[in-house]
This record gives sequence, structure tokens and C-alpha cells, in this order.
Amino acid sequence: MDGNHIVRTVMLSLKVNSEVYARLKEVEEEYKQILEDAIDYGLRNNINSFTKLKAGIYRQERAKHHSLPSHYIYTACEDASARLKSYLKRRKQGKAYTDKPEIRNVSVHLDDHLWKFSLSEVRIVTRKGWVSLKPFFTKLFWRYYNDGWALASESSFKLCKGNVVKLYLVFKRPLPKPFEAKGYIPVDLNEDNVSVLLDGKPLLVETSVKKITLGYAYKRKRISEGRSTKDRVVRRALKSLKERFKKLDIRRKLAKLIVTEALREGKGIILEDLPKNTPEKMVQDIKDKQLRDRIYKSAFASLKNAIVEKAKEFGVPVLLVNPAYTSSVCPIHECKIIYPPDGSSAPRVGVCERGRERWHRDVVALYNLLKKAGNVSPMPLGSKESHDPLTVRLGEWLRAKSLHLTLNVNKMMGMTV
Ligand SMILES: [Zn+2]
Repeated sequence: MDGNHIVRTVMLSLKVNSEVYARLKEVEEEYKQILEDAIDYGLRNNINSFTKLKAGIYRQERAKHHSLPSHYIYTACEDASARLKSYLKRRKQGKAYTDKPEIRNVSVHLDDHLWKFSLSEVRIVTRKGWVSLKPFFTKLFWRYYNDGWALASESSFKLCKGNVVKLYLVFKRPLPKPFEAKGYIPVDLNEDNVSVLLDGKPLLVETSVKKITLGYAYKRKRISEGRSTKDRVVRRALKSLKERFKKLDIRRKLAKLIVTEALREGKGIILEDLPKNTPEKMVQDIKDKQLRDRIYKSAFASLKNAIVEKAKEFGVPVLLVNPAYTSSVCPIHECKIIYPPDGSSAPRVGVCERGRERWHRDVVALYNLLKKAGNVSPMPLGSKESHDPLTVRLGEWLRAKSLHLTLNVNKMMGMTV
């Protein structure tokens, strides 16, 4: 997303003859050199904006690469600018492990002067004029192409083994205007689950993010114990764990399901506006700081972003509220809820100091989020759901089309979900 648009990339894998491949290879090599020069220049002069990089190196690069179409210098400077910005950001966070941005993966960026697209032919300009590539379109391509998305004027290509050119097309669509919400669905994020109020009923959706993260941490430790992580075998074994992919899959699908429910009920979504650093309420039992950060990021920060982005895509309004006291104050009596200490059999179920009714921590948060949005609909006083909400397991919702359907099916079958 670039603020006003939703952006999607579609990759086309195109087989070309050796001559076309060789000419694109020349472009790639020169592009790579320009990219390296631009990055070195940026680091030396402490600049990272496209305009300044271009102003700084254009003449020298033009002289060096005189037969390469000049717009490749522009796109290489844009590429360098993006790489420098993300590198400096990582360095600031202490996560840059090299003394300059690594250029391992190069795809040659193209602007509207460097390529032409039509359904019968894709043309890319090289040192000796245009080359023509015969496109082969995927199902995904047609979905965007026929579905009101506009093909952007920029794209990029990458050369692969066997005379294959990977072409990355960019589709854009303007974001819809958020609709007028008829109330809100509160969503509370936790380490291993997300709670939501669906048709007015609290529901705990299991994500197991903490469990998964700890599981992978254990596996990583076993693989790399006593061995260098630079070792090829170790690196390959670590890579095959696919932790990121698994969590990304959970995040994307859950965001989609929550947004689908909001659309169905014509409601907006309320979420806690999470603090930059790990919130108080999470992972008190994890001492390893790196691991805590990892859990925080995937269970809270990234999931929140995924929901916000998905909501924007469908015009669902999102309200972010202050997270203070959301699970420690009774939403009915406005006094403290006393939770048993960690380690007891049900540390997430507390008792209201005044009304003595029982509350599940994640359900309390839901009603308090609603209250923060100014909602005063009736709350269940001492009902079963308030301390023992329905739970949907990861395996049950991950392939589901909608959350409320999962619930209905389970109810009809008389199962406890
Ligand atoms: Zn109470």
C-alpha cells in the first residue's frame, strides 16, 4: 500500500532465446554496477534521497555506461535510495549485520521509458535497442487484469537459470473510502489468541503465536548448537523451518476473517493502539529479550498491522484506542478485577472486586474496548461467556471461509468449539 493505493505484484516467468537473454544480462550487469556506485556514494556522503543520489552520480555513470539507456541510471538510483533507507533503519535498530547494504538480490527496475507492455508482447530496452518477450500469463495476472486493477508504469525483471526472465508486474487500485460504521467489533490481541465480539458474543480465536515462536526457537537452537550459523548445512536447515511463512499465513488469514465479519455486520473494528515496545501484559515468563521481541512482533505489532491494512483495503473503518487498563478493570462496576497469580490453574479468569462475578481477561478487554469507543450496549453480567468464552482452535479456522460459519457448524454438531 502506498497511502492511497493497494499495490500487488504479479510475477510472470518468461522463457526467452539466448540472444535476448544475453542482451538483458548486459543490462543487468551495468545496472548492478550503477546500483553499487549509488549506494557507496550515498553512504560516503550520508544521503539517501533519490534526487540527491541522481544529482551526485549521474554524470559519472552516464560517461561510464554511455550506451545504456539513461533511464536505467534513474531507476538504479531509486533502487539504491530504497535500499539505503531500509539499511539505515535496520542499523538504527541495531539489526544491520554488514557495514553496507548487501546487493545479493538484484532485479532491474524499469520505468515507463524502459519497457512497454501489451497483451501480445513485452518490450524492454537494452544497449542495442528493444528486445521482445512473449508473455505467458498466469491465472493471478488475469484476476487483477480483469478486476479493475491498473497496471503500473513501473516493473522490474530478474534473470534466472535456463534463459528464464522473471518479470514483476505491479497492479494498483485506489483504496475505497471507509464506510459509515453501525457500531464496532472489538478485537483484542494476545500472545496465543485473538478475542473478538462476534454477533455480540465473545469468541477466542487461537493463533498459538507464542507457542509456535517458542517451538521454532527450540528447533533453531537444536540445529545450530555448537555449530556456526554460517555453515551451509546449518543455514539450509534453518531456512527450511519456514517460521516466517507459517506466521504470515496465520496473520493474513485471520485479518481477512475478521474484516469479513466486520463487512457482514456493517461494523468498524476497534483495536488497542499498541505501544512501540513490548506491552506490560505480555510474556512475563520469557526472559530472553530477543525472543520476547520476536513474540511481540508477530503476535501484536504485525497482526495489528495486518488487520489495519486489510480493513483499509475493504473500506472498513478502524478505531485505535489507548490500551491502558483494558483487562484489569471491570467493564460493569469499574473496579479492579483480581486475577489469580501466574502458575495457578486458570490465571486468565479473575473475579470482580465489587460484583464478585467472574471474568476471562480477554473478554474483559473486549467490553472495555467497546466502552472506549463510546458503546454502551448491554454486557453479560456473570454469564458463562464472560468467564468461559467459546474457543476456536487454529486448525478449525485456518481453512474456514468465515468465523461465524465455523461457529455455526460446530454448534449444529453439538460440539464445544
Ligand atoms: Zn464487576
